[in-house]
Amino acid sequence: ELVDLHDYIERIVKKFTGLANDKNITIQVQVDEDLGQVYFDYDRIEQVLTNLLDNAIRHTDHDKLVFVDVEKEEEDVQFSIRDQGIGIAEEDLPFVFERFYKADKSRKRSEGGKTGTGLGLAIAKNIVEAHKGSISVHSKQGEGTTFLFRLPNINES
Ligand code: ATP
Ligand code: MG
Repeated sequence: ELVDLHDYIERIVKKFTGLANDKNITIQVQVDEDLGQVYFDYDRIEQVLTNLLDNAIRHTDHDKLVFVDVEKEEEDVQFSIRDQGIGIAEEDLPFVFERFYKADKSRKRSEGGKTGTGLGLAIAKNIVEAHKGSISVHSKQGEGTTFLFRLPNINES
């Protein structure tokens, strides 16, 4: 199966056009040109990207930006989803990948029109680790959040 990474990312981002437009959020995509052919479970990684984008847009205010970057890091391919949203409190950060964990308990869960189950990041971590990859989060309250994940051995089938 031959998948063009740029088309793949664009197709996933397009699913969020409505949600982003409602808040006038711009999603900026950058995919490295020289990634070569990259092999991974496209459906499962789409699930990861979909949750990270959903989280980013839902926790970001009107008129802000969300960035999606895909680049080569040594032998890995690194995906980064960065928002300019509310951020995650330092005390919550170690737990965001746990099942059912919600950092914004005090906020109205219906915000953004959807109530989450708190499973998305736990599933994302499982999928990434099943690829022998790793996922991490950096965040500052009031400034934004970046989720990074890396998948190894990108040029081997
Ligand atoms: P689900 O993904 O199952 O629909 P969810 O989005 O609440 O529900 P996760 O994706 O696992 O669950 O995220 C867990 C919690 O981490 C969220 O409820 C939210 O509090 C916090 N969080 C995740 N991503 C962000 C982000 N980009 N900015 C701020 N908080 C975030
Ligand atoms: Mg989620």
